[in-house]
Amino acid sequence: MDDPRWLCVPALARAPAPSGTTAMRIDQLLGRGQPAISFEFFPPKTDAGFNQLLATVEELRPLEPSYVSVTYGAGGSTREKTVDLTVRIQRDLGIRSMAHLTCVGHTADELGGILDDLWAGGVRNVLALRGDPPAGAATFTKTEGGFAYADELAAFAAARHDFCVAVAGYPEGHPQCLNRTRDLENLKRKVDAGGRLVITQLFFDNAEFYRFRDEAERAGIKVPEVAGIMPITNVSQIKRFIGMCGAKIPHPLLTRLESLEQDPESVYRAGIDHATEQCADLLKQQVAGLHYYTLNKSKATADIAKRLNFDHAF
Ligand SMILES: Cc1cc2nc3c(=O)[nH]c(=O)nc-3n(C[C@H](O)[C@H](O)[C@H](O)COP(=O)(O)OP(=O)(O)OC[C@H]3O[C@@H](n4cnc5c(N)ncnc54)[C@H](O)[C@@H]3O)c2cc1C
Repeated sequence: MDDPRWLCVPALARAPAPSGTTAMRIDQLLGRGQPAISFEFFPPKTDAGFNQLLATVEELRPLEPSYVSVTYGAGGSTREKTVDLTVRIQRDLGIRSMAHLTCVGHTADELGGILDDLWAGGVRNVLALRGDPPAGAATFTKTEGGFAYADELAAFAAARHDFCVAVAGYPEGHPQCLNRTRDLENLKRKVDAGGRLVITQLFFDNAEFYRFRDEAERAGIKVPEVAGIMPITNVSQIKRFIGMCGAKIPHPLLTRLESLEQDPESVYRAGIDHATEQCADLLKQQVAGLHYYTLNKSKATADIAKRLNFDHAF
């Protein structure tokens, strides 16, 4: 599955290690009574795209993100690009960063090498993921000498260095797990293996998140859950995403968006309205953090922040 969120960048130069608070682990920030605000980016394919991305990160800097995360390419395709970009954001821009890492196509030795590079580069936060099956494959196949599930990578990363390891959660259930209770048992396994926070898949109905948070608590999952937010700015694009990740758009919202489809400005406004309402409600319900899937663009996230009058961020 070629989810464009996990697409890929040219190798980047390295610079001196960070000092002070940017070196902090994310779990040292959470639980201080303020929500963490974070932005997710994917490594661009070209030099021009890379420079544009750094400019986008700079545009969002005034929002003082708690951290910025960088995805790992579908099919394990962005090893150096993800490492270099994550290190560059941490070291050169002085913004705390988190690298996504997947088990796809890697042996444990290779994953160990990537974790060593991140650690040497000053990165202290890793999102441990299994990854999706490669395009055309229905199921995930473990690489020989690698890992079958994210809990194994979470344990491996936590043992390798003193990383803050994050893991993924699915408020509406993971698409390949037909039983929500089983899915939560698997999430608990990841947390028990070393996951210090959960970052969720995108969702559009907060009731799904609250139910997930309550069920996770009952299942004995005690770590903070950070809510994944994707502002809808394009109807066909969002339909493609939800087709891949299993999230649902509430019927009234979908009907409204479809009625506006020929008018991109109105779709944008409706998408920002919905995401702003979602975030305001989540903040009221004391969410541990808001994680924005930015798709490498600053405008939607900045517009939401402006309307929420962010002074919540660290
Ligand atoms: C916040 C976030 C960021 C993401 N970033 C990326 C990225 O950068 N790159 C990318 O390629 N993908 C990314 N993904 C997508 C992710 O890789 C897919 O959703 C993938 O299908 C599952 O990864 P996981 O880490 O949740 O897997 P796992 O936790 O291993 O779960 C995979 C499936 O196996 C089941 N399962 C887990 N453990 C066991 C077990 N021991 N026995 C039996 N069944 C089990 C689960 O219930 C689930 O159905 C991201 C997802 C999220 C939510």
